[in-house]
Amino acid sequence: MPIDLSNSECPLDRDLPSSLMRATVDQAPVAISITDLKANILYVNAAFSEITGYAPQECIGRNESMLSDRRTPPEVYQELWGCITRQQPWRGRLLNRHRDGRRYLADLTVAPMLNEAGETTHFIGMHRDVTEEYLLQQQVRQQTLFLETVVASIPVSAVLIDENGRIVLDNLMYKALASDLKVEEPALLFLKLLREESGEDWNDFWHREKAFRNLELRFDPGGGRPSRWFSCAGQWFRHEEGSVDGFFSGSEKGYLLLTVDDITQQKKQQEQYRLRGLQALMAEEEKLESLKETLFAAIHQIQGPLNLIGAAKNILDRRGDDAGNVALRDLLQQVMAAGEASICTLEKCIPHSDNNAFKPVNLNQVLHDAITLLTERLLASGIVVEWVPTPVLPSLKGSENRLRSLFKQLIENAIDAMAHSRRRELRILTWTRDQLIHITIEDTGPGIPAGLRTQVFEPFFTTKASLGRQHVGMGLAVAHEIVNQHNGLIRIDPDYQEGCRIHMQFEIRQTQPERPAKVSHG
Ligand code: FAD
Repeated sequence: MPIDLSNSECPLDRDLPSSLMRATVDQAPVAISITDLKANILYVNAAFSEITGYAPQECIGRNESMLSDRRTPPEVYQELWGCITRQQPWRGRLLNRHRDGRRYLADLTVAPMLNEAGETTHFIGMHRDVTEEYLLQQQVRQQTLFLETVVASIPVSAVLIDENGRIVLDNLMYKALASDLKVEEPALLFLKLLREESGEDWNDFWHREKAFRNLELRFDPGGGRPSRWFSCAGQWFRHEEGSVDGFFSGSEKGYLLLTVDDITQQKKQQEQYRLRGLQALMAEEEKLESLKETLFAAIHQIQGPLNLIGAAKNILDRRGDDAGNVALRDLLQQVMAAGEASICTLEKCIPHSDNNAFKPVNLNQVLHDAITLLTERLLASGIVVEWVPTPVLPSLKGSENRLRSLFKQLIENAIDAMAHSRRRELRILTWTRDQLIHITIEDTGPGIPAGLRTQVFEPFFTTKASLGRQHVGMGLAVAHEIVNQHNGLIRIDPDYQEGCRIHMQFEIRQTQPERPAKVSHG
């Protein structure tokens, strides 16, 4: 607004002595100058002299243009003059030259002063030296620009996340990854996966701002798309914020630079080697398993008659010691001792695998292994496989080998069951709910009748016609034992009508592998 000199209605004007008004202007901490209509200086205050370096006697009578540095574009002055000649105040920034020759940035306001007739009689100029402020702003801008350039030129997906988990900067590779994975913010998903994979260590990474490197993550996008592998690294740094929020409390904030490298190709190669090794290992384990089954079957076969002999001896024991019985009882005793010795010998022959140590296991990975190991059989049997893993699956503490054998056994059962089915579909799902990992393996075979759903988990029970080497009826009994070892639950879903659906669940945070057997049969 122009300053109207005729306005004496203002209570301040009436009450305040003009000497006080004058002193206020003289001592105001802003450079104030009053000029005539051609910008010839008539008055300057103390701050004007301090900021420009000119004493009043050096500038009064001279034009304001004495302050002009020729680097300010003429359009800026034209705009200034355009405004004030229309009796509008003007505010802007221009480059001034100090008396000592140095340039400074002036934040200037020029306003017209009007008389009673509404005519401009003078101009008042007020300016501050904002050079330092500008340089600081520039510094912040430069830092941000530098950061953006660094993040943009990192040759892997990179994203800057603030301490509240908000993404503040990313690069093109990250954007490409987001569209590739069809996930809106993959960084948030990766942070979730990292938190779940790192357990307690995550507190150090996140709350103590500790760096991390080479943390590998597996991501299963689902929808028939192959698994992806990423190697993640995180580096924290602190950055001064350019906002007023931290005016009183300090505005330094922590930022995590997360880089994500797609290592799927390398992993695929490693995976091929691993699968070859696994195939050899599984073949070896199958031999051992088969030997175990044979020995169990032999023990079972001996145990039956031994039990009968034991029962017969008990009857004789109860009848008393007449002459005829003693010899027979001795004989039975000898037969029983010989039988028990044979069982003892057979039990000693049962092989034990050394590869069953408990460690964190990703069940998606193990299920995927089992499917891959059986790919040839599945293809040969014309079975369509639908593999629906949940993209984020926390690890379970368990024996990778035993769990792999478990899933392999269940898938083999499904393949056998669908041998005579017209529709041959295998559907494997994983998901988490209520701190539990759930897995279902569904087939479109004949299913298991309700009355047999408990028995199938008993040793040497089989519904398969042939009692050849492969069908001694230990498969589901062993599966049940493995699930128990992992504090899990296995059952046959009674509601599934298309064939057979085996449902398993495991506790996510379990640490104690040993617990009493727990089986539920629908
Ligand atoms: P000038 O010839 O002075 O002017 C450049 C352009 O301004 C011309 O093209 C013309 O269109 C316009 N112009 C100039 N005088 C008039 C006029 N009387 N009427 C209409 N248009 C006009 N400049 C600074 O560099 N630093 C300052 O701190 C500063 N403070 C000022 C404070 C006040 C109160 C006023 C009124 C002006 C101030 N100016 C300041 C502007 C200054 O008067 C000059 O216009 C400017 O410095 C450019 O000077 P010059 O010699 O390059 O060009």
